Amino acid sequence: MLRIDGSYGEGGGQILRTSLSLSVLAAQAIEIFNIRAKRKKPGLQAQHLVAVKAAEEISQAKVSGAKIGSKILRFEPKKIKFGRFEFDIGTAGSTTLVAQTILLPLSFSKHPSEVLIVGGTHNPLAPPFHYFSEVFLPMIEKLGIKAEAKLEKYGFYPKGGGRIRLFVQPIQKLVASDFLERGKIEEISGLSVVANLPFSIAERQKNALQSFLKNFSGINILAERVEALSAGTFVFLKVKFENILAGFSSLGEKGKPAEKVGQEVAQQFSDYYQSEKVIDPYLADQIVLYLAISKKPFAFTVSKITNHLLTHIWLLEKFLDIKIKIDKEKNKIFKE
Ligand code: AMP
Repeated sequence: MLRIDGSYGEGGGQILRTSLSLSVLAAQAIEIFNIRAKRKKPGLQAQHLVAVKAAEEISQAKVSGAKIGSKILRFEPKKIKFGRFEFDIGTAGSTTLVAQTILLPLSFSKHPSEVLIVGGTHNPLAPPFHYFSEVFLPMIEKLGIKAEAKLEKYGFYPKGGGRIRLFVQPIQKLVASDFLERGKIEEISGLSVVANLPFSIAERQKNALQSFLKNFSGINILAERVEALSAGTFVFLKVKFENILAGFSSLGEKGKPAEKVGQEVAQQFSDYYQSEKVIDPYLADQIVLYLAISKKPFAFTVSKITNHLLTHIWLLEKFLDIKIKIDKEKNKIFKE
């Protein structure tokens, strides 16, 4: 049984989710202790518990410690299943993080799967649905993953109730790749959304972002009112370069001016763009899992080396028995 210290580095939910993914993939029994030790509310919360239940269901695992607040979990998976699944987080917990937990193992099952996940779709500290479906999935498709996602209903904090549907096609293997050149910008598109709030907020968010982007041509940002149980606002910017995609986003909250939401997205894009590096900081920690699986050489540069990325590398080295190198001067992550 592989024992994993959930308090290492970032000490968040990612250690749990990736451990579950890799455990199911390799039918490797694991014990995770100190789960989410560095978070304000440590231990398993609703989203993490559903991630555990989802991994359990697709692998017919024997599990102990799967309850709210638990800081220790034992997980012994069997064979990977496929088919139709439904998981309801019951809160506004992130649906995309649950999706990421099961995407990798479902990709290596024998037949396609379709998964409905109910909860939050646009959350702080998690990939918003649009980032998940329009940046993360197309980027890991370059490595061999075949999956699509649909947003059926938005879900904002506190009520959640959002619905995403994930379609996963079986694959035989993943390939590694280098991401060392972005190439030229081909398209910049974006979205400014409000739910249960005046439409003018969506327009102010859009205008703040657009005024920053006036040096770039051919930009298409849509302002939209959407249905959701709770009030919420969201801005997303997707930049398609010749070789890669990058995404930037921000959420509104009470007391935060609409202009600030747009400006935050602009600032994230600016920091990334000026760095001249290839992978955006969120994608780096998410794609490194898929790059590492094949155990073949890979390399990418990233605009910022985050604690999430360093923690994920530590975890991957533990599971896969590989060495991933970090060149902090060039912001380059690679495996020889
Ligand atoms: P954790 O904090 O350990 O639960 O992990 C959170 C995950 O969500 C990490 O993989 C982050 O890269 C990802 N994440 C957080 N915020 C964003 C964002 N704005 N866009 C995309 N991914 C995000």
